Amino acid sequence: MKQIQTNCAYCGVGCGIQVQIGANGHSLKGDADHTANFGRLCQKGERLLETLPLPHALRYPRLTATDETISWLHATQLIADTFSEAIQQYGSDSVAFYLSGQLLTEDYYVANKLAKGYWGTANVDTNSRLCMSSAVSAHLRAFGEDVVPGCYQDFDVAKVIVLVGANTAWTHPVLFQRILRARESRGSKLVVIDPRRTATARQADLHIAIKPGKDLQLFSLLFRHLAVSDAVKQEYVNTHTSGLDNALTKLAGWLKDDGSVLKQCGVSEPVFAQLLALYRDNEEVVTASCMGVNQSLNGTDTTNAIINCHLLKGHIGKPGCGFFSLTGQPNAMGGREVGGLATQLANHMGFSEKEHRLLSEFWPASNVATRPGLSAVDLFQAMADGKIKAVWILATNPAASMPDVALVRKALQTCPFVVVSDISQDTDTAKLADLLLPAQGWSEKSGTTTNSERTITRQRPFLNAAGEARADWQMVCDVATAMGYPGFHYRNEADIFREFAALSAKVVSEFPGKQLDLSGFADITEAEYASMQPQQWPVNGYTDNRRLYADGVFSTEDGRASFVVPKVVVQAVSSDDLILLSGRSRDQWHTRSRTGHVAALTSHEPQPCVFAHSQTLTDRQIVAGQLVRISNSNGQQLIVQALADDDLQPDQLFMSIHWTGRETANASVNLLLDSRRDLCSKQPAFKGQCVKLSPI
Ligand code: SF4
Repeated sequence: MKQIQTNCAYCGVGCGIQVQIGANGHSLKGDADHTANFGRLCQKGERLLETLPLPHALRYPRLTATDETISWLHATQLIADTFSEAIQQYGSDSVAFYLSGQLLTEDYYVANKLAKGYWGTANVDTNSRLCMSSAVSAHLRAFGEDVVPGCYQDFDVAKVIVLVGANTAWTHPVLFQRILRARESRGSKLVVIDPRRTATARQADLHIAIKPGKDLQLFSLLFRHLAVSDAVKQEYVNTHTSGLDNALTKLAGWLKDDGSVLKQCGVSEPVFAQLLALYRDNEEVVTASCMGVNQSLNGTDTTNAIINCHLLKGHIGKPGCGFFSLTGQPNAMGGREVGGLATQLANHMGFSEKEHRLLSEFWPASNVATRPGLSAVDLFQAMADGKIKAVWILATNPAASMPDVALVRKALQTCPFVVVSDISQDTDTAKLADLLLPAQGWSEKSGTTTNSERTITRQRPFLNAAGEARADWQMVCDVATAMGYPGFHYRNEADIFREFAALSAKVVSEFPGKQLDLSGFADITEAEYASMQPQQWPVNGYTDNRRLYADGVFSTEDGRASFVVPKVVVQAVSSDDLILLSGRSRDQWHTRSRTGHVAALTSHEPQPCVFAHSQTLTDRQIVAGQLVRISNSNGQQLIVQALADDDLQPDQLFMSIHWTGRETANASVNLLLDSRRDLCSKQPAFKGQCVKLSPI
């Protein structure tokens, strides 16, 4: 029996998988040697083979206006001509890519190279903007680079693990089981800070049911109290950080310490004292956050407030210590590494003159973008305003997953040329495309991903592509070549990876403080790439790659980490408003285009519904199970079934993010959310918007 070593298509834990290829069918199991999962898989990972073949798989390029199947040659030339004309007539910023954390790093790299290197626009954003960009901004401000300093092993050895805005039991199940095992063997304490009593919170030693959106206030208060305690490592602070006095002075300007802040947070003084003691009296504390923090108005500042607490104690890059950002998607990290966000160039570079010159020489391209492009919300707004004339969307479904999906759908209808490459022709976005391109999916495609702890893993194919489906990198390179650009004649994905690694080597030679260092792969052969084993970066043969910044030297210009002054943006809430929370359900993934077809995965939440406290339902004369209307102040509304859930507080509602416009009635929770966002990261504030609930 042949075995293929690959990885899971879903979350940022990045579990390794072994697929057994048998004469009578295939089977899979967790990869016992992968450091992310040591052989374990969750229900979604275990059932990956059941998602195949996809019922609505896209197999051939197709023009939707005429429902005509066309050749790849025709499709490629059409894209090349239309994008060239738009650039010529309206300028570089009239075209855009919208990418996805489902893409492989090689796909991401060539799309960025084409747009940012040759088209001359940084209008390349990704659905990682919706998921991780607040953590990215906070890393940049604190450490000088978008770096997760720690690793999963820190959860094994920590004395205290604090999960903030993270329902890890459902969203990162394999990591959560690891946390529970560590608690059993070491007696570590688990604290969960979340408005809901989630499956994760139910297993915590301490659940702090904070009011939605108040994490910034809580961690800022914690920071103030820790700063005057004997927990501060003064020598570390003096030698390796900057900005502490300024942060504390500015904080005192808005953060009262008279009990009113805790009241706003819904946290009692004894509970706060318990939390403070856990941070103050323990050396090994890991704080991990996820979408509850990232997808809020104060996502970046909240993350920096958490990092501030760890910097005070010198707890970065040491075993069992520090801040850890839990990544949502399988390759959000890899995408960021090659410049997937509109605010970065490849290899974590910005738009300085030196960085710009380096990239221009390396590719070599005469038209490298000189400034950041439009981030996701602004990109779709520009499209709705008629400023984007051609867009190419790869492996994502913004017509269901963006906030204010009504505007996104209008944007896609307004844009003269929308290309969508995907594995499915049944997504909300595919239905609004002008040209559909069949992309290879998990089981067919080949390349690399990077998980939450910086481990690069090879994703390997074991099935032939359905119909004429192609690798995303191949489609992009063919279009680039048809547009007349040199430098896209890669023979395979190994060529692309090698080029990225060589770029990385050049970047670190000119910016020695950069941690993203793949120079050890700069000469990787095809055979080495084919047999590559999971490996954490930096990959250079001399840096300890498990934890970064252990020496206290950071990626900033002066080598010091920064204490950041948190500022708070408060959302107005009227007395009859309910706070709408959204998140993943246990067994589904994104907009259900893969997991929605597996009966065992749909039974957990078989139809769209809103969860509310039973008191909330009674107050509105709603009986559990009945249809209700949820509406927002912009006149948008959803009609779904109401179910009672007393793990919510009475002023809150919860809906899962997976339902879309493909259901009989539009059931996407994002229809109710406007596009307000974190001012620093531009990440939409999906959590905590105000709605009304009524019976129908
Ligand atoms: Fe896949 Fe995440 Fe489950 Fe691992 S924990 S099997 S990566 S969904």
